[in-house]
Amino acid sequence: MSALLLACRADARPATVPAPPSPEVAAVAAPAPVAPVVPAPVILDSPIPFGPERERLTVEYLSAHRTAALTGDAAQDTRMVPRVIVLHWTAGPTAKSAWNTFSAPTLSGRADLQGAGALNVGAHYLVDRDGTIERLFPEDRIVRHVIGLNHVAIGVENVGGGADLPLTAQQVTANAALVRWIAARQPITHLIGHLEYRGLEGTPYFEEKDPNYRTSKPDPGADFMEKVRAEVADLGLSGPPTR
Ligand SMILES: [Zn+2]
Repeated sequence: MSALLLACRADARPATVPAPPSPEVAAVAAPAPVAPVVPAPVILDSPIPFGPERERLTVEYLSAHRTAALTGDAAQDTRMVPRVIVLHWTAGPTAKSAWNTFSAPTLSGRADLQGAGALNVGAHYLVDRDGTIERLFPEDRIVRHVIGLNHVAIGVENVGGGADLPLTAQQVTANAALVRWIAARQPITHLIGHLEYRGLEGTPYFEEKDPNYRTSKPDPGADFMEKVRAEVADLGLSGPPTR
């Protein structure tokens, strides 16, 4: 049967080879360029619940801090369109300890942040020292991790950091893969380290009512940012504006 089909198809082939299309026809017929498909890195889901208490505290935080809340209802919306990716380090030893720290809706400790609101800190992704990536919050949820930018910023925390527990090569690779995958699906324009966040003051992204609410952050280190940026340079993401 299959031999017969093959024979029929062979018989049906035109006797003469058609002339190649003219350049004009070829130009019209050429397929549109397709954006390269970015493979998703392996991600473990370790969701932190975004329940009514976290929702309430997020609205409270946004009302107190977003300048847009002065004129509109932006503070009521705990969803966002992400435009910035901010990389961090946890300064703690394990992914489990970071997850536990972020899981409660209410901030505990952190005297430097208490005065600015009771909403706990967190991050959308957590990268362990061996490069394992965990997803804690959906990318469109507003999470408290960077002053002035939470309403547009996806946060990526890296376990460890500092002189005692330098971030690893596996974390560089995992962060680059994660940034590449996020930027392929979201309208991301900027990639910054937490240590660079004040560089976005004065841009339309930065909203903070209190001019005195600023912290000085070292994470995740200039060296780590340089290595991640080198791996995703082709994406053309901006860093903090140079002044
Ligand atoms: Zn940070």
